[in-house]
Amino acid sequence: METTLVIIKPSSVQRGLIGLITNRFEQKGLIITGMKMMQLTEPLLKEHYAHLVDRPFFPILLRSMMATPVIVLAIKGVDAVAVVRGMTGVTKARNAAPGTIRGDFGMSGQENIVHASDSPENAVVELARFFKPEEIFEYMPLVTPALYEPDELKL
Ligand code: UDP
Ligand code: MG
Repeated sequence: METTLVIIKPSSVQRGLIGLITNRFEQKGLIITGMKMMQLTEPLLKEHYAHLVDRPFFPILLRSMMATPVIVLAIKGVDAVAVVRGMTGVTKARNAAPGTIRGDFGMSGQENIVHASDSPENAVVELARFFKPEEIFEYMPLVTPALYEPDELKL
């Protein structure tokens, strides 16, 4: 199984969406293996959004991501990175498909509800950026055999 990183962004914390968003992942059958509230900082965000530091909107992105604490989630499942990206929807929330988190909860390209890792390689790096190893818990819920066929669990 893979583990991916989700960040429930400050705008979603402000809007009281922590529970609804977290519930989506639980309903899907994904396993929450890490969850905490933390205040993001400029150095951390410059690292996390290194591909965007030169973009004109970066100062606004920084301010938005530091507006309140965020919730960081480690989410495990077969193909979890792609599954969670699919559940997240495209970056500009008003164009995101209905049924996706961005599609159902947002209108903005900037205030787009959640961050989700975009590749297995980035997920490993991003989980290490936001979680200490002991903050991620490797347990298997008792319902796992009801969620997967045994061969799928070998993936
Ligand atoms: N962003 C933005 N304007 C843009 C591109 C990105 O405000 O034109 C913000 C937005 O909050 C987005 C984040 O920067 O979620 C990271 O951008 P990325 O291209 O990695 O999109 P994501 O992976 O979040 O879909
Ligand atoms: Mg991204």
